[in-house]
Amino acid sequence: MTRSIIPDLSTYEVWFLTGSQNLYGDETLRRVAEQSQRVVAGLQAAADIPVTIVWKPTLVDSASIKRVMLEANAAENVIGVIAWMHTFSPAKMWIAGLDALTKPLLHLHTQADVELPFATIDFDFMNLNQAAHGDREFGYIASRLNVARTTVVGHVSNPAVTARVGVWARAAAGWHATHELRLARFGDNMRYVAVTEGDKTEAELRFGVQVNTWGVTELAEAVHAVGDAEIDALVAEYVESYDVAAELQPGAARADSLRYGAAIESGLRSFLESGGFGAFTTSFEDLGALRQLPGLAVQRLMADGYGFGAEGDWKTAILVRAAAVMGAGLPGGASLMEDYTYHLEPGNELILGAHMLEVSPSLSTQRASLEVHPLGIGGKEDPVRLVFDADAGPAVVAALSDMRDRFRLVANVVQNVELPEAMPHLPVGRAIWKPAPDFATSAAAWLTAGAAHHTVMTTQVGVDVFRDFAQMAGVELLVIDESTTLEGFQRDVRWNAAYYRLAQGI
Ligand code: MN
Repeated sequence: MTRSIIPDLSTYEVWFLTGSQNLYGDETLRRVAEQSQRVVAGLQAAADIPVTIVWKPTLVDSASIKRVMLEANAAENVIGVIAWMHTFSPAKMWIAGLDALTKPLLHLHTQADVELPFATIDFDFMNLNQAAHGDREFGYIASRLNVARTTVVGHVSNPAVTARVGVWARAAAGWHATHELRLARFGDNMRYVAVTEGDKTEAELRFGVQVNTWGVTELAEAVHAVGDAEIDALVAEYVESYDVAAELQPGAARADSLRYGAAIESGLRSFLESGGFGAFTTSFEDLGALRQLPGLAVQRLMADGYGFGAEGDWKTAILVRAAAVMGAGLPGGASLMEDYTYHLEPGNELILGAHMLEVSPSLSTQRASLEVHPLGIGGKEDPVRLVFDADAGPAVVAALSDMRDRFRLVANVVQNVELPEAMPHLPVGRAIWKPAPDFATSAAAWLTAGAAHHTVMTTQVGVDVFRDFAQMAGVELLVIDESTTLEGFQRDVRWNAAYYRLAQGI
């Protein structure tokens, strides 16, 4: 039974806008339309573009450009627009439309055909195929208006071009997801913690997310109202899906612990569904009448696409939700992660990441083990949790910090590795990784940036998706990857401080 809230990205549309003008006559405009439909067909056929690209009639004047932008803004399933100036489209015609556009923009700098017909080329061909300067006119006005955009260059038959469009489309889906996101905080942040604090009003302006708090009492009431039949059904599902510890099996000594875990899942899920929430936070310091810290339930909800942050960390919950949507349909998953402890062997440094309980099993293709163990903090009953190792492979960890006058997103390219040895006494979901470019540079850069200890780990998308997402949201992004040097990173941090303060005006 699927309860996933990860959208099918093919239900989202990106509108393809072709710019021209009336100067060329009907015959040329007919060919412009035919050729731009061919470009759209090329995009549509690309397996790495997950959304539906919709061709729109050629735009030749200011009024029609503004109208289509307003329609794109208003259409709920439209997550962005692509613009291409096949011919010369005098760009003052685009001012009102670009100024009105509130959704992500991709400027595709392409051409109908790959090769120049050297033997037959004449000026009619030149007039028809002049994106080389038509797009320069468009780039000028977009820069003049300071319109955030991604520019992609090349023919759509080039896989690198469609892959790049696909990355942007995934980022736009993430941007769309945060703009329809309602986030429920159960209780407040962990006491005295700094980095999980932040400006929820600014978050709604930047990301569109509504962040509000509900008393954990209401959640506990929903959990304690769950009936036996629902609990029976969930326990049966657990037994089928996981290696359930003998003591938790139906009728065994600690079967009630698992039944309580199932009640948490059912009550929490129905609370989230009835409120239209796509993300939530909990706090081990604020559990009210809940008898266990939610572990299993949170893990399964994350795997179903819910954003989550522990200890009231709503900023990470936003990232987990965005990453789950951006990675929709790809192998792997997205999860809350926390840099926990290090293996400091010179040249083979490793980071062990985990959390008290709440790591998503979407990071692993293993059949997880469902176990119950004591938790050292919180003073509640032993919580049930899924135990597994994240798969080896490429990943990104990203964190969001509130720098008082702006949000700062920091992303590190990492490589998850196989566990060097079994860890039989660490019964949680866990990952071990090597960060790029190397451990010392990565950690020093992360600390220099003031990036958080909570992250989203995604094994579905690369850092380019975060670049586009940050640009769409207008937030600072600092990337730590193979090309990072500490000196360059420190310089970026300093320049960004000046840039982002100037860019937001008085
Ligand atoms: Mn934590």
